[in-house]
Amino acid sequence: MNKDNISKKKYDYLIVGAGLYGSVFAHEAKKNGKKCLVIDQRNHIGGNVYCENIEGINVHKYGAHIFHTNNKEIWDYVNSFVPFNRYTNSPIANYKGKLFNLPFNMNTFNKLWNVNTPEEAKEIIKKQTLEANITNPQNLEEQAISLVGKDIYKTFIKGYTEKQWGRKATELPAFIIKRLPLRFTFDNNYFNDIYQGIPIGGYNKLTEGLLKGIEIRLNTDFYTNKEELSKIADTIVFTGKIDEYYDYCYGKLEYRSLNFKHKILDTENYQGNAVVNYTEASIPYTRIIEHKHFEFGKQKKTVITEEYPEEWTPSKEPYYPINDSRNMDIYTKYKQKSLESNIIFGGRLAEYKYYDMHQVIGSALSKAKKIFRT
Ligand code: UDP
Repeated sequence: MNKDNISKKKYDYLIVGAGLYGSVFAHEAKKNGKKCLVIDQRNHIGGNVYCENIEGINVHKYGAHIFHTNNKEIWDYVNSFVPFNRYTNSPIANYKGKLFNLPFNMNTFNKLWNVNTPEEAKEIIKKQTLEANITNPQNLEEQAISLVGKDIYKTFIKGYTEKQWGRKATELPAFIIKRLPLRFTFDNNYFNDIYQGIPIGGYNKLTEGLLKGIEIRLNTDFYTNKEELSKIADTIVFTGKIDEYYDYCYGKLEYRSLNFKHKILDTENYQGNAVVNYTEASIPYTRIIEHKHFEFGKQKKTVITEEYPEEWTPSKEPYYPINDSRNMDIYTKYKQKSLESNIIFGGRLAEYKYYDMHQVIGSALSKAKKIFRT
């Protein structure tokens, strides 16, 4: 019998998940002459960066995504599919109806303490951190106060963080906050990275560009079709939850979920900024996103999204991995098991990492470089 007839499968790669990792990997594989099939259980590509056009506005359906990176190669890569605009993230914090600039900078300190110079601001922070007298922080609250003092902690961190993670700050591990950057200039740019922006025309342009010419099957669940799909390609690239892939054999990994309440408003400009964080505990959502401002939209209506953090259950979307020591111990076992297989696990859910977009793209590109030796 002809040897080729026995071993040749229809595709070189079956890529499970059409998010950023899957899309970048598929693009690189195709570029290297490989035949790919990309499947996704949702009815669209793009994973969580997918945008739905509502009233002419690109609505970030699965949470706001703002692209930022220091890596020129990654910036040039994404810009080769779609040009990016000059959007700069400058979130506003709303605490009990009073508005402050983020990240913590001279504008914030001026509003909080009525100080005008870096020296005055530094003096207050130094006094408060010394007063707290914390040498060995045991939890997130102690860690934060020892870094920035009680005023900033109470106004901007405690309420937001407790809502975000669903636990008291005194019960959260200190390592979640290693650094809390304080900026002693009047600079409201949230990120420190050199490159930042939003794809002109929305993120779908990026994922459509990446997946151009590649076979895609939407509304296709891997597990329901596992038997057929497992035989279809030489290699599987899996971007879903790694614990689910292994049938939770070492236990379940935990995530934090979010509930997004999207609203169409008959007004042109609701809050004057894309991102407003609600930092007090009594307001149940953590932030309101007004999507048109990501692309400087001038539409007659506006779309806003309230973001409610939620406990994750299997019927909900797993947004944030909870990388505490218990979960990391479990993940390490899955990771070890995955290394003994020939399946490629990549992306936020498969690597169980709180990834930003540029990091997911970096992870997929370096995997592709290794395999295709480019
Ligand atoms: N955070 C906070 N107050 C804020 C914004 C953020 O205390 O107004 C803390 C909070 O613990 C949060 C973390 O900073 O989990 C990271 O927030 P960011 O908005 O940067 O990340 P994202 O949720 O967008 O990934």
